[in-house]
Amino acid sequence: MQQLSFKNRIASNYLISTALLIFVVFCVIYAIVRFSINIKVNNDIKIEVARHLREIEVKENCVLLIREKQWKKIQFNKVEISPAFIQFVDELGALVDKSPNLKQKKLNYYPEAINNVLFDGKLENTSVRQIQVPLYQNTKIIGFMIIAMSVEDSVMVLNNLFFILVVAYPLILLVLFLIARFIAGRSIKPISSIIHTANIITKDNLKSRISLPQNKDELHLLSMTINNLLDRVENAIEREKQFTSDASHELRTPLAVIKGTLEVLIRKPRNQEEYKEKIDFCINEVNRLNLLVDELLLLARFENQRQSLKLENVSLNALFLDIISRNSSIINVKKIQCEAMFAKDFHVQTDAYLFSIVVNNILTNAVKYSKTNGLISFTITEENDKTICTIADNGIGIATEDLKKIFDQFYRSKANEHPEIKGTGLGLSIVKRLCTLLQIDLRIESQENVGTKVILSFTK
Ligand code: ADP
Repeated sequence: MQQLSFKNRIASNYLISTALLIFVVFCVIYAIVRFSINIKVNNDIKIEVARHLREIEVKENCVLLIREKQWKKIQFNKVEISPAFIQFVDELGALVDKSPNLKQKKLNYYPEAINNVLFDGKLENTSVRQIQVPLYQNTKIIGFMIIAMSVEDSVMVLNNLFFILVVAYPLILLVLFLIARFIAGRSIKPISSIIHTANIITKDNLKSRISLPQNKDELHLLSMTINNLLDRVENAIEREKQFTSDASHELRTPLAVIKGTLEVLIRKPRNQEEYKEKIDFCINEVNRLNLLVDELLLLARFENQRQSLKLENVSLNALFLDIISRNSSIINVKKIQCEAMFAKDFHVQTDAYLFSIVVNNILTNAVKYSKTNGLISFTITEENDKTICTIADNGIGIATEDLKKIFDQFYRSKANEHPEIKGTGLGLSIVKRLCTLLQIDLRIESQENVGTKVILSFTK
């Protein structure tokens, strides 16, 4: 069974159940026909018994036929399809009289047969159904009337029926198997299409899709699911390619700038001031490169690593204050005012290290995109079963059309309008990835030139 093709397996399974069903149906048909034939013969014999009992008379220990001549004439002239054979015997079974249709033959008397019960007997070589009716004078049995009918025709009909059913059975099964195989083949045709499509799909050719079968059945659903899966794989590979090309571009740019600056620097002798300026510039670029590499590593590291989370009870108040103090130098440079509004001590179950990366990225953005003397406020509140942290600034804000793109890797909103604000376009991608990992709901609301609000909600 294991080696059979799917098509043959479906056909075989179908055939096993059908074979059992047909077998039962054939047995029932045979039993019904046999039963009906027996009933018919039994009834005919009973009718004959009733008729002939009316035509006899018992006198002085002897059976007399009323109007014997007439009876014999009728018996002789009657043409019956299955004639009844009648024979009278005395109480010891010795022949007294018999119907003319018996000619030279003689019905057997079976002393062991129970009176008035139908049984199968023999008339020479012919099978007959027979009854032995006792004849009484007063209460004494003086003989028997034996009535028999040939069942040769019935036996022949039953034998023929048996033969037909036995021959028809394997033929019907063979035809059914071929039909089932054909239908199964047609039904699973989409599977061949799936196999064909799967075979032509390679990493470089992800465009092919399985053509959907017309019937909206399980195979339609399977084809649709595989097509959706291919869409997702194609998107993922496309994103991966985009990421690789963006990353190499981002990595090459500062290197090219450093190389260019250093080449210009060594072309001729410079004064102290010039050297310092160019080297400071290069150090800045190296720092940018460092940050970029760190962020790229961070992105790669935390892709789907839920199993390596170190969950613990974290005090949000302490974590926020710690991050604010760690960033105090950049906050002070821009003379930004930070206000923390925590009604009480808030605790959540999370990975402290990863969550601090999230808050740090959001805070550095808030500082970066705030104007001098700006205001950044931190609030933590509780709503129903949620703990909600908000980091809001009154900086340059984000254009509405850019809001949905800011989580894309390397995307920087209106970077040309603010060339003085440096960045990699990876910060919010990291925030998003970590929030997904930590199961934190992340939302950003922003209005250009008004400010930006980042909302993080933990569900208990
Ligand atoms: P970047 O390194 O450019 O800051 P991010 O991924 O952190 O990269 O942010 C993506 C873009 O989202 C930024 O280029 C910026 O345009 C916008 N952005 C993020 N945070 C803020 C904010 N607090 N205020 C204004 N714009 C922001």
